[in-house]
Amino acid sequence: MASEELIRRLASDVDSDAQAIQDFFVRMLRINAVNPRMGGPGERERADFLESFLKDNGFAVTRVDVEDSGAPGGIRPNLSAMLEGKDGKRNLWYISHMDTVPEGSRDLWKTDPFEPTIRDGKIFARGAEDDGQSLVASLFALLALKKLEVPLPYNVGVWFVADEEFASNYGIKQLLRRRLFKESDLVVVPDSGSPRGTDIEIAEKSLLWMKVTTKGKQVHASLPAKGLNAHRIGMRLAIELDDMLRSKYRKQNKLFDYPVSSFEPTKKEANVGNVNTIPGLDVLYFDCRVLPVYSLDDVEADVKKIIRQYEKRYHATIKFEEIEKEPAGPATAEDSEVAILLNRAVSKISRVKPRFVGIGGQTVGNLFRRQGVPTAVWSTIDDVPHEPNEYSKVANLINDTKVFAAAPLLGST
Ligand SMILES: [Zn+2]
Repeated sequence: MASEELIRRLASDVDSDAQAIQDFFVRMLRINAVNPRMGGPGERERADFLESFLKDNGFAVTRVDVEDSGAPGGIRPNLSAMLEGKDGKRNLWYISHMDTVPEGSRDLWKTDPFEPTIRDGKIFARGAEDDGQSLVASLFALLALKKLEVPLPYNVGVWFVADEEFASNYGIKQLLRRRLFKESDLVVVPDSGSPRGTDIEIAEKSLLWMKVTTKGKQVHASLPAKGLNAHRIGMRLAIELDDMLRSKYRKQNKLFDYPVSSFEPTKKEANVGNVNTIPGLDVLYFDCRVLPVYSLDDVEADVKKIIRQYEKRYHATIKFEEIEKEPAGPATAEDSEVAILLNRAVSKISRVKPRFVGIGGQTVGNLFRRQGVPTAVWSTIDDVPHEPNEYSKVANLINDTKVFAAAPLLGST
């Protein structure tokens, strides 16, 4: 196959561009793109910078400006560029975000978070890792493929989106609503990763935050018969829910580091301020992370059934609320094309043996999976997002540029 030779050329092209890639990254990081919902100027200036770079390099740019009266300038930009391939109906997308979280307390930074500083092979700046490194790597991967002038099996493109750090309301959610992605697309979301690039994330757990409020009757602690101790009912209820959930939803999935669903009683609201009062109110919370094989509706139905029994048994009023509910889309198959090509590119370029993993947290990858689009989440990072002294390793930036460029040349078809 000619692909060995191609990959070698591609890698050496990226290596000769390494200084230019690094310089571009530094220029981009100087442009503050803190999310406007977190007090920043937003993505607009950074988007303009990226758009003119893409145009200067001969790309047609698709720009989706979403109106947002809460942002300086009133818009939230999303940008895309692509190279056309033989199968013009299929797309491989690299999707990264332009916005960042704020720098936090400046005292904790050793350098200016908006004046990138390079030391010991690391670039220190807010947004260097999350998600600047992957954005720049996918951009220069596209550029490298363009310069290589080889036929691509399908279209290969990038999206630089807004608002990932808040709720993606002006970014990916808008793009999905506009049906810009298809089930036949291959999506890579390089917005989470591992230090050696071994972990290719293909599954996430569903998330459910439950709040349970028990109302009894508050009285003096010496006269329990006159009242109804909501705290006692709440404790018993919490333990019963805990036992039921953990014994009923016990399937394992070895993809996940924590291979079973988790149901953790977490927050407990303060009740009375003194020891000699029987509490009339009890408020407790559960954080549930459920394997995608289960339905959150079933979990909720089981919880509500026990709550109804408790109401009858104790003559208390017990209210159930879901504070947060994000069902996971179906896991991306290990033999899906996006998983296969990323696996091949990582093995070849990073020279590690990749493994497929699932996580208990959630990324925007889940939004694509929910629409039936196979999605892999991958990058090579030390995992320091949102921290003071956030950094990206130059070696990872260059490596991931090569991986993103090589992947479409290593597909299974
Ligand atoms: Zn991110």
